[in-house]
Amino acid sequence: MRLTDKVFSLICVGFLTLAASGCGLLEIFTVPAPDSLTGEACFLTPSDMEGPYYIANAPFKESLYPEGTPGQRLTISGTVYTAGCAGVLAGAEVDVWQADSTGVYDFSDQFLGRGRVLTDANGRYTFETVLPGLYQPRPRHIHFRVYHPDASVLITQLYFEGSVSGAPDEQTIALEQDGDTLRGTFNIVLGP
Ligand code: FE
Repeated sequence: MRLTDKVFSLICVGFLTLAASGCGLLEIFTVPAPDSLTGEACFLTPSDMEGPYYIANAPFKESLYPEGTPGQRLTISGTVYTAGCAGVLAGAEVDVWQADSTGVYDFSDQFLGRGRVLTDANGRYTFETVLPGLYQPRPRHIHFRVYHPDASVLITQLYFEGSVSGAPDEQTIALEQDGDTLRGTFNIVLGP
């Protein structure tokens, strides 16, 4: 819950004793949008270290590892927004790279754990992978480089709830079990 929401909630509690209908009215303004990224809740996604393991020009592919690769299957999807979440960016290049389930980066010409995807007309992207393993001293993470000609390039990292990273909320997502796959949503807001 963001600070503004807490303030609204406190006001709401105060109103409760006076007028339940007034409280309901206030609550309308505190209901988060489906993507939790509209209005005051829309922050630019923070940048983060690129690290030493990026390789440019990874192939375009939605599955970062071949089927049967050891590890917990993971699907990440999200929407790439313009600053202020006023619009979405179609055709944004989402370039990701990560360690495998044992915490090892691949540097072969197979680009395992590396790939690029483009956002669709609705600014949506998705890719499949495995949950990255730990390598000291890093928490689990996936590196992102997001590019669109109408926005600032963003280099950042994605972290997962339950893996202590010290990273801001905007870079930390929850994962939900869906059959044998974990799913998470990482919405990204690029600067102008
Ligand atoms: Fe890394």
